[in-house]
Amino acid sequence: MSKAIVSTLYDSDVFKMACRQFDKAADAISLPEAIRDRTKYPRRCLAVSLPVKRDDGSVTVFEGYRVQHNLSTGPAKGGIRFHEHVTLGEVGALAMWMSWKCSLVGLPYGGAKGGVIVDPSKLSETELEHLSRRYMQEMVNFIGPHTDVPAPDVGTNEKIMGWMMDTYSNHVGHISPAIVTGKPIAIGGSQGRREATGAGVAYLVKKYLADMKIPLSKTTVAIQGFGNVGSETALALANYGAKIIAISDYTGAFYNAKGIDLARALKYVRYQKVLRDFDGAEPITNEQLLELKCTVLVPAALERVITDKNAAKLKCRVLAEAANGPTTNAADKIIDARGDIELIPDVLCNSGGVIVSYFEWLQNLSNFYWSRDEVLTKLFGILDKAKDSVDAQQKKFQFSRRLAALTLGIQRVADAKAARGLFP
Ligand code: GLU
Repeated sequence: MSKAIVSTLYDSDVFKMACRQFDKAADAISLPEAIRDRTKYPRRCLAVSLPVKRDDGSVTVFEGYRVQHNLSTGPAKGGIRFHEHVTLGEVGALAMWMSWKCSLVGLPYGGAKGGVIVDPSKLSETELEHLSRRYMQEMVNFIGPHTDVPAPDVGTNEKIMGWMMDTYSNHVGHISPAIVTGKPIAIGGSQGRREATGAGVAYLVKKYLADMKIPLSKTTVAIQGFGNVGSETALALANYGAKIIAISDYTGAFYNAKGIDLARALKYVRYQKVLRDFDGAEPITNEQLLELKCTVLVPAALERVITDKNAAKLKCRVLAEAANGPTTNAADKIIDARGDIELIPDVLCNSGGVIVSYFEWLQNLSNFYWSRDEVLTKLFGILDKAKDSVDAQQKKFQFSRRLAALTLGIQRVADAKAARGLFP
């Protein structure tokens, strides 16, 4: 029996969590030992120093990473996170999840993730631009439209992707829109990309509620996180007729039994940047939000927020994982044992974002652009297929829905590696 000899490079709770998920899935499908370790561990990573000139003339050096977990099934794909708590281990775990996600929904991509240790709200617009461009400059020889294609993640957005695309294009000497996805429409972004993750989460929630015979008009929703994913999920679910009773961000959580006026909350955030002191609802704690009685709970922020401390106290019927890795393995066990919560696992639930990123990349490579309707229709078609395959796997092997999704994703990556040999 062979075993990997690995360093502690990625060592962290979140990387261990992703590894344990992998081990459990690999055991469940009896993945041959010979293929396990090379399917599990990231293929390569790059750590970079990013000196940025501040508005006051001083220079701050930030640290950034890119982890390419797998390139066996296509170019690596995944977002770039700007957050003060980014670690290499976290980026490694997120890259691993990108591999299973792309594979599960059938995209011709591997998995990657990037990150910079920074609180972007503490930078001016100019400083943010310098940091984004410098990060891309350091990545130029490591990524490419057929090697690794970044996108937005927590703390990054369209504008940042635009700067990065411009930096790369200037370096290679011609416009290269396919180097990143999630760009502004004016420079090759796709219709529907901004709302894609939230639209996908809402679409899957709607489908699972229909399976459970719960009408949307009787559905209440609590959402943790009011960034791109949380706010677009809220809007899409409200459009379907659900009532959003709680929202939050890192500055506060807010509850209104009658339903939150989302237009008002969005306007508030546009001017105030954060939800702090939002007056359209009653303030509650973040813990209270997670434990609210509601039909659907949507963690749409960071990893590891549903833990063994609160899993037994959840009062939702559906747990829709819009964030990556929001549920710890210990919490997962508790939720499984309870048996009264339908869990839509992250790799399926939030896959709408990368699916439309794939559409954007295809449009860039072919220079032929699609309408929003075409994008959304194709997105929902892929989600239907992915949901059906997860549900079939769950039934066939009596797996939890998470195990069903992970085993499908992992199997395809392992099959590609087995077919190709040791190098990819
Ligand atoms: N950051 C998103 C995710 O975690 C999107 C990645 C992409 O579009 O490549 O899935």
